[in-house]
Amino acid sequence: MLRNLSSYFLRTLREDPADAEVDSHKLLVRAGYIRRTAPGIYTWLPLGLRVLRKVEDVVREEMDRMGAQEVHFPGLIPADPYKATNRWDEYGPTLFKLQDRKGGDYLLAPTHEEMFTLLVKDMYSSYKDLPLTLYQVQTKYRDEARPRAGLIRGRDFVMKDAYSFDVSDEGLDASYQAERDTYERIFQRLGLDYVIVSAMSGAMGGSRSEEFLHPSPIGEDTFVRSPGGYAANAEAVTTPAPDPLDASGVGPKRVVPTPDCPTIDTLVDLLNAEYPREDRPWTAADTLKNVVVVLTHPDGARELLVVGVPGDREIDMKRLEASVAPAEVEMAQDEDFSSHPELVRGYIGPEAIGPNSPLRAVGEDGEPTGSVRYLVDPRIVEGTCWVTGANIDRHHVLDLVMGRDFSADGTIEAAEVREGDLAPDGSGPLHLERGIEVGHIFQLGRKYAQALGLTVLDENGKSRVVTMGSYGIGVSRVMAALAEANHDERGLAWPAGIAPFDVHILATGKGDEVFDAARGLAEDLDGSGLDVLFDDRRKVSAGVKFADSELVGIPLSLVVGRSLADGLVEIRVRATGERTEIPVAEAADAIRELHEQLLEKGE
Ligand code: ATP
Ligand code: MG
Repeated sequence: MLRNLSSYFLRTLREDPADAEVDSHKLLVRAGYIRRTAPGIYTWLPLGLRVLRKVEDVVREEMDRMGAQEVHFPGLIPADPYKATNRWDEYGPTLFKLQDRKGGDYLLAPTHEEMFTLLVKDMYSSYKDLPLTLYQVQTKYRDEARPRAGLIRGRDFVMKDAYSFDVSDEGLDASYQAERDTYERIFQRLGLDYVIVSAMSGAMGGSRSEEFLHPSPIGEDTFVRSPGGYAANAEAVTTPAPDPLDASGVGPKRVVPTPDCPTIDTLVDLLNAEYPREDRPWTAADTLKNVVVVLTHPDGARELLVVGVPGDREIDMKRLEASVAPAEVEMAQDEDFSSHPELVRGYIGPEAIGPNSPLRAVGEDGEPTGSVRYLVDPRIVEGTCWVTGANIDRHHVLDLVMGRDFSADGTIEAAEVREGDLAPDGSGPLHLERGIEVGHIFQLGRKYAQALGLTVLDENGKSRVVTMGSYGIGVSRVMAALAEANHDERGLAWPAGIAPFDVHILATGKGDEVFDAARGLAEDLDGSGLDVLFDDRRKVSAGVKFADSELVGIPLSLVVGRSLADGLVEIRVRATGERTEIPVAEAADAIRELHEQLLEKGE
């Protein structure tokens, strides 16, 4: 294919868009790949669509190779199946809901588990039809709280979603493994660096789940790795509980005045000055911090929850969110405190909350009521001894022993994971990194099939509930991650396999000879199957043409300019900056050869 830049639907911008923080976002807009339509919603321009299609092609080829079959669902779907699985409520405000003229509930699908389950139920009834994997490449809609970084977190984005259907658990394991292998092939072919980490299943439900993360400082996910091979999203890291301690030698709890201690550090200083320990100084790790949050459950019910963590650790909101999902979580506000006078702000201690509270009663359903629920970090085990709030203004309590003086309603993973923490499987200290989630594979199990009645008859004529897996790749996000991984300060530098064009030909001169020679080369290369973008603009300076070409980032360019008088043209390799002058007669062959080399090397 040959396109002339003079008539190509492209305008490059010199200025970064005002709302862009990350390089891939700035460059994709400036280089004319996408245009913003609304927050988190983008229009695809010709250049952008070409790259998106190439990423999709790689995904499709590998999905087809594994035997998955492509279908295509609408984005606009009826609510009933989502009500049947409860996701109509559980998905929360991220779900785009709407009504038709008759008042029927609809949604813009954020993912399609229900629809695929019903489709297979509609068409299949025997174990002989399984296993089956179906997929689609389709636009998804999510009203994200924080759309960000252009295509990386959109509210309208392209996903490849696949679903597997099996009769047995072993079958599901095999389907999951096949998908996992396919993802490895896809990311390897795309040349996108990835790490596979254990993940939380989140709003999907189900058991085994792994994410494919592209390591990147702009990623929103934090993941950990240990020398012994443990790898997990920080959200999924479990804290090994230490053994219980013998606290028989600890004296009785003591309430002490602690004025002017607004922070843990000032509290620790005061303890060391006024109540020094004999064995060692007090540290923040001796204190127990009780943080009040509000959960909003899918049915709209609000619940106050106190989370207790060692005072030397912050609460990690993403870990907390993952632990309480599908409930949404926020910090408690003034009105939450005023309706719970037992919570003395700044001095909250276990004795006023959870099972320790005098307000605690048991409701008709056997569930605890009256007092606020209290969940603690798994490190807070029996026999551990804490300095914490005394539930009296400007007072703390010392030597408050877990199991002796207080207990909790359970444990929660909400404290931050830190560099050097030990891996839960004993494989050594954890190293923290950031990454972009580009793929996610889940073993859903029978949850969706059960809720929607997808069964098949087995070899004995017995009805069996089908077990499922669900597998996503963020196709448009992958494109942004590739842009992020392949650029410099002057612009994009696409790998040859997904670049919008194979070669950019620049005619930089005034005379017709230059333009004629350049067009000749463009036609030659087009004739041999390469995709050519030809900068044939007559009144544009060489400087502007070079700048545009570096911004747009096509892997090879061929400059036909002043040296043509000596029979020479210049070949430039975008990624390395290499420049070579060669005789014009050899130029087309040289480009063809270089193009092959780049494809082979995956660059
Ligand atoms: P995230 O944690 O980033 O919000 P998720 O876990 O909600 O993602 P999944 O439901 O697992 O996402 O969706 C499958 C894939 O779709 C993700 O791995 C990611 O690559 C992509 N994806 C999810 N949300 C978005 C979005 N808002 N914009 C672009 N791609 C997305
Ligand atoms: Mg995910």
